[in-house]
Amino acid sequence: MRILVVGQGIAGVVLAWSLRRRGADVRVADADFPHRSSSIAAGIINPVTGKRYVKTWRYDDFFPVARSVYQTMQAEWGVHIWHDSTILRLLENPQERNDWSARMADPEYTTLLGERPDAGAWAGHLAPGLSIGEIRGAARVDFGVLLASFRKFAVSEGIFLSEKVHPEDAASLAGEYDCIVFCEGYRGVENPFFPGLPWQLSKGEALLLRLSNGPYPAEMLKKTMLLAPLGGDLYWAGASYNWTYEDNGPSEAEQGFLEERLRHFLRSPYEVVQRMGAVRPTVRDRRPFLGASPTQSNIFIFNGLGTKGALLAPYWAAHLADHLLAGTALDRAVDVRRV
Ligand SMILES: Cc1cc2nc3c(=O)[nH]c(=O)nc-3n(C[C@H](O)[C@H](O)[C@H](O)COP(=O)(O)OP(=O)(O)OC[C@H]3O[C@@H](n4cnc5c(N)ncnc54)[C@H](O)[C@@H]3O)c2cc1C
Repeated sequence: MRILVVGQGIAGVVLAWSLRRRGADVRVADADFPHRSSSIAAGIINPVTGKRYVKTWRYDDFFPVARSVYQTMQAEWGVHIWHDSTILRLLENPQERNDWSARMADPEYTTLLGERPDAGAWAGHLAPGLSIGEIRGAARVDFGVLLASFRKFAVSEGIFLSEKVHPEDAASLAGEYDCIVFCEGYRGVENPFFPGLPWQLSKGEALLLRLSNGPYPAEMLKKTMLLAPLGGDLYWAGASYNWTYEDNGPSEAEQGFLEERLRHFLRSPYEVVQRMGAVRPTVRDRRPFLGASPTQSNIFIFNGLGTKGALLAPYWAAHLADHLLAGTALDRAVDVRRV
């Protein structure tokens, strides 16, 4: 089967890889639009999120698939993409500590949550008076290495097309391919083959930091924002959420807000190496979009990965690949026609 994948963000890469492993003849096109969500994301998989410390949707199903896919990719390409990690959760007030203890006592959370007597290697870098919770079963997927490795591979195989695929040309291209799958990230909102989807796009901003006063801790840290070690003295810090925005790059107001939050718990001096912004492909019901266009049966979508592309992409790419190549049914929860 000959398939064109449009978009080489995390969705397009994982889908193209999954299709090739099942024997499809795949081409991948990307226009390299600036401020790509996959390029600025930290790629963190966090099993327990939010103020109420709730387990991520179907984490137990998705996590093993994600680990297996990314570890297979890194073995194939001879690079390091998957980083197992814990997240130290900073607890500031009695309410947060009580909620944490209550959640820890829940049998469903005993393998995921714990407590630490102190912040270990982070201790000298933090504001005083914080208690430390521990989230196990987290990971960081190095999107930068993954995207660059796939691009190198695709170019060397002659399967990469450096171009924008205009949806208006897709009908004629569909004669050349058995099907086309659009993985356009937030630009999917403009795709005429998929009108009226319940998008709720959110812009996110982040910082790339160099911390002073090592040694540099290797565990991730979470308070009102997350700090992730990238190696050496470099850290990713983010992210903000905005449902109204003027453009998709970094803005003065949000960058100031991020630094204010950072200084609330981090006492070490730092230098800002890069300021980043991008629009996430977020959806009102927080479920991805998979499936065929209502108007053209050989044009498909794989999108809506929202804030959790690292965890969701491998499982749902395999699901869509099986649907395309073996005709298996789509899960109603993610079927683009659910709405
Ligand atoms: C600040 C921030 C932090 C984040 N942190 C995390 C995190 O820690 N963990 C996590 O799991 N997720 C995180 N996310 C979310 C994550 O970035 C997304 O879930 C994911 O990257 C979306 O990937 P995508 O491939 O769908 O879209 P994108 O990354 O936007 O990629 C779409 C690609 O399609 C190309 N394209 C679009 N239209 C066309 C066309 N017509 N023709 C050719 N090419 C086209 C674009 O050039 C682009 O390369 C974060 C997002 C932000 C903004």
